[in-house]
Amino acid sequence: MIERQTTLKKAISIKGQGLHTGQKGTMTFNPAPADYGIKFKRTDIKDSPLIEALVNNVISTNRGTCIGKGNTKVHTIEHVMAALRGMSIDNALIEVDMEEVPIKDGSARYFVEAIEEVGIEELDAEREYIVIDEPLRMEIPEKKTTIEIRPSKRFSVDTIIDFESRVLGEQSATLEDISEFKAEIAPCRTFVFLHELEFLLKNDLIKGGDLNNAIVFVNRKVPQEEMDYLADLFDKPRVKVNGNGILNNLSLYFDNEPARHKLLDIIGDLYLLGKPLKGHVTATRPGHHANTEFAKLIFNHINQKVKTND
Ligand SMILES: [Zn+2]
Repeated sequence: MIERQTTLKKAISIKGQGLHTGQKGTMTFNPAPADYGIKFKRTDIKDSPLIEALVNNVISTNRGTCIGKGNTKVHTIEHVMAALRGMSIDNALIEVDMEEVPIKDGSARYFVEAIEEVGIEELDAEREYIVIDEPLRMEIPEKKTTIEIRPSKRFSVDTIIDFESRVLGEQSATLEDISEFKAEIAPCRTFVFLHELEFLLKNDLIKGGDLNNAIVFVNRKVPQEEMDYLADLFDKPRVKVNGNGILNNLSLYFDNEPARHKLLDIIGDLYLLGKPLKGHVTATRPGHHANTEFAKLIFNHINQKVKTND
């Protein structure tokens, strides 16, 4: 039986705020024909070009994956890309009327729910995979990061994180098959350390919403007046640090939610290859820079093969 390409049955919009810019706007998933791939369009810019969601269009990986063309860019696309891959959507045009996509709760849940709400349409074209034929490996020694992929009949991912912190040490997560994505990975939210959060706020690098879109790890004692300041930021009467070192602006869905979120990011970033992968990924201390560099390595490897086979 051949597997067919898919798109959405009809368009659906999601409103929300961007994490970094604080802009409020709308993102719309639109159906697209076979072999179209995933493309983004900024509807707030006149004559703005379509930006293919491909690794060669990545222009920044600083706290999120940003793609761009000319002067047009779209920030923080990784959770949307993960939702599309996780729901096996091959083709879609994503319109957005601001510089980044809505962050929502910092997970892929709302994007998955939107796709489910309109439904998935099969197209009259066969799905093409990028099939890994030999092991590939990448290392960034100064960050103790390694990512490798081995041949497999499916797409599966193992992730290990280690922030060498009392509150967030070594932790792992596994996805054995993409069919597990929706329940096991999609709801997992992004996370941040309190000292990073304060730095980002002071330097105006995050402005998005009420800040209830990230798990906050606290690895030091925080004076009461700082807690009061945080409570204001989080729009809560009081905040405190729970026994597990997490600020009580939210509670965890899974003990290893941070590792699962890093796995979510890998799925999104590797979908910038333009086609779904078949292979088993093992990533230790991944991040957007490493993930997208690894996608480039796979891309170059595949293209080399095509050239030598010509
Ligand atoms: Zn993320």
